[in-house]
Amino acid sequence: MFSSVLIANRGEISRRIIRTASRLGLRTIVVYSEADATAPFVREADEAICIGPAAARESYLVQSKILDAARASHAAAIHPGYGFLSENAEFAEAVQAAGLIWIGAPPAAIRAMGAKDAAKQLMQQAGVPVTPGYMGDNQTPSHLHEAADAIGYPVLIKAVAGGGGKGMRRVNATEEFAEALASCQREASASFSNDRVLIEKYIFAPRHIEVQVFGDTHGNAVHLFERDCSLQRRHQKVIEEAPAPGMDQATREALCAVAVKAAKAVNYVGAGTIEFIADASEGLRPDRIWFMEMNTRLQVEHPVTEAITGQDLVEWQLRVAAGEKLPKTQEELRITGWAMEARLYAENPATGFLPSIGRLEHLRFPSGLRIDTGVDEGGEVSPYYDPMIAKLIVHAPTRETAAGLLAAACGSVQVWPVKTNAGFLHRTAGDADFIAGNIDTGFIERHADRLIPGTEPSTAIEQAAARLVLPMDRNDPWTALTGFRIAAPDDPRIAVEISDSTKLVSLDPITQAAASVTIGGSKILFLNGEAWPYGLERAEHATGGASADGAILSPMPGRIISVNVRAGTQVVKGQKLLVLEAMKMEQQLLSPFDGVVKTLNAKLDAQIAEGVLLVLIEKEH
Ligand code: ADP
Ligand code: ADP
Ligand code: MG
Repeated sequence: MFSSVLIANRGEISRRIIRTASRLGLRTIVVYSEADATAPFVREADEAICIGPAAARESYLVQSKILDAARASHAAAIHPGYGFLSENAEFAEAVQAAGLIWIGAPPAAIRAMGAKDAAKQLMQQAGVPVTPGYMGDNQTPSHLHEAADAIGYPVLIKAVAGGGGKGMRRVNATEEFAEALASCQREASASFSNDRVLIEKYIFAPRHIEVQVFGDTHGNAVHLFERDCSLQRRHQKVIEEAPAPGMDQATREALCAVAVKAAKAVNYVGAGTIEFIADASEGLRPDRIWFMEMNTRLQVEHPVTEAITGQDLVEWQLRVAAGEKLPKTQEELRITGWAMEARLYAENPATGFLPSIGRLEHLRFPSGLRIDTGVDEGGEVSPYYDPMIAKLIVHAPTRETAAGLLAAACGSVQVWPVKTNAGFLHRTAGDADFIAGNIDTGFIERHADRLIPGTEPSTAIEQAAARLVLPMDRNDPWTALTGFRIAAPDDPRIAVEISDSTKLVSLDPITQAAASVTIGGSKILFLNGEAWPYGLERAEHATGGASADGAILSPMPGRIISVNVRAGTQVVKGQKLLVLEAMKMEQQLLSPFDGVVKTLNAKLDAQIAEGVLLVLIEKEH
């Protein structure tokens, strides 16, 4: 084994790799941007080298800076983590040319699998079933349109260079095709500098099932079973699990054998994932599962595979990169129990999942499970990177127990004042349909009403808040009410401020107990993953984004990618005003009510800071 490794990544990812590398006695070196100077991964590494400003394009994505850091620290190897440069064949080659060990897939395999169309062609030749569709060279709009008509609607247009759920458009009918194609190509060239697309049949009741594969330099390749990542929002994974619900042994063997065949077709070395899409309208069947793409790197959701196999995949990566054989043969690998992972994001489900940035004044995780996180209390969720706070990973003997543990874990997360999706994850993991395994990629959208916590406190929150403001003697709450602000002298209800409104609550004898913390002078209660300021006094409470008076402020720094109104435009409630691109996401800013655009301070392509007045809507009189 080599003696040191430089990790070309950040946050949770760098920490994950440091953990295993240190256990194996390697010296760890990280690179970091100015925005990450105080991050845990910088402290935990043996050495840390600053490589520039916050913007990834000026730091984490600059190959020469990373290679310079490797030279300066005499690193023997480079681990790219996931994201950033992990699937960049040119970088892999530069690392090897510099005489360093590349802890990743061989550049030729990265290249072969890099473009979705070429990968599908290659897999088809290798006898792997691929999602039906058009993946040819003729990219003229009329030809693509004919291809889509021939496939039959609905179809999915995909950027061949796409990733992270970006550059995809579902088209339901031929009339919608031309516009969807143009918008997909626009997004593809802006995000990936490549506007080539492919067209796929849109699979109904789709399930995303992927297989973890591993190869070594001795020609061995194994699989470490499957994961199900069907719980998605906007084509991005939210909850992942292993194994896949409803997978029988024969289907598993067939699927995993195909995955190993796919890996062998590109002489794969290291960790990789073969992603499949399944038509699960009649359960999982081997003849209804098709190759979608290969990710030539370690995956965000690798911990669920580690949990069910008892293996450390980063250790496997290091050993394979050092020229060792795979630590286990296929026959030695077994599935034990069920694992689930939830991605805790700094985002606000109530506002269409807009990222929420700022300082994590209060951050508490439950204990008794694996938590992979890149931040700690007092840290910052910055606008520059992916807004993930942590991954919560549970492992239990059965799927039902695992779901219960995950729901409980997400329900006891405490974060303030940054908004999170914890309440949404809690509801999702505890949902009866989810527990029954009735899942597909449309699950979250279909059940959004019951999965997304309301903007008004639920009864459980009201009850918990009322109980918290009661002074004291819990055995006799009714007498203890004396002296409290209540609606009328003999009204038994309790007046409690939750967020910015007053609720009159009749206390039920049985209520869920919430945790309560005083942060910056405000009392915050935490229950079911939700966080609410409460108290007898009116809580000071900040509002962001669209405000009640019609001033639309930028919720975070970003770039304006579409301006849909002009000064003087009449708008209706919910009408799209602008689209902002920030933190890998497009965010639509909508009109809060019917009115007219009084002021417009937004230019296409302009970079804007946080809290800037972009649009002022005046109410119609
Ligand atoms: P996966 O299927 O593994 O979720 P993604 O393509 O969504 O694959 O990206 C993998 C991970 O890489 C992301 O979740 C994120 O942690 C990281 N990542 C990708 N792009 C960026 C970026 N521009 N900035 C920061 N992190 C990124
Ligand atoms: P990315 O590179 O962004 O990960 P993928 O090709 O892996 O792109 O697709 C991402 C997600 O989009 C899948 O997990 C699935 O939910 C959905 N998807 C992709 N292809 C299809 C399809 N042909 N039919 C239905 N859904 C699809
Ligand atoms: Mg994918």
